[in-house]
Amino acid sequence: MKCPICNKGILKKGNIKESMFGIYLGEFPAEICTNCGESFTNQETTRLIEEAAKKRGIWGLGKKIKITKTGNSLAVRIPKEIAQYLKLKEGTDAYIHPEKDKLVIESD
Ligand SMILES: [Zn+2]
Repeated sequence: MKCPICNKGILKKGNIKESMFGIYLGEFPAEICTNCGESFTNQETTRLIEEAAKKRGIWGLGKKIKITKTGNSLAVRIPKEIAQYLKLKEGTDAYIHPEKDKLVIESD
């Protein structure tokens, strides 16, 4: 089968190393493009990846939020699930900085 992304390569069976939020989930079967390297997983594999993420307690931790205004600053609300996962509490010290075009908040 031809790759639907680059239209040049052919999809071949292989394995992909899958991670979520920087946590390694394992190797999963996929069809990988010989040209651009794009990988495609079927429904069953997608389900296995979801299961692996749930087992590690990280499934659904990525959330859309709105940045709000408080005084002259902008505020980021940390969803309860992320706070629990990272054991964040009110008063926790954190370090905030940009990383290219991303916002990074590091806690101890
Ligand atoms: Zn391709």
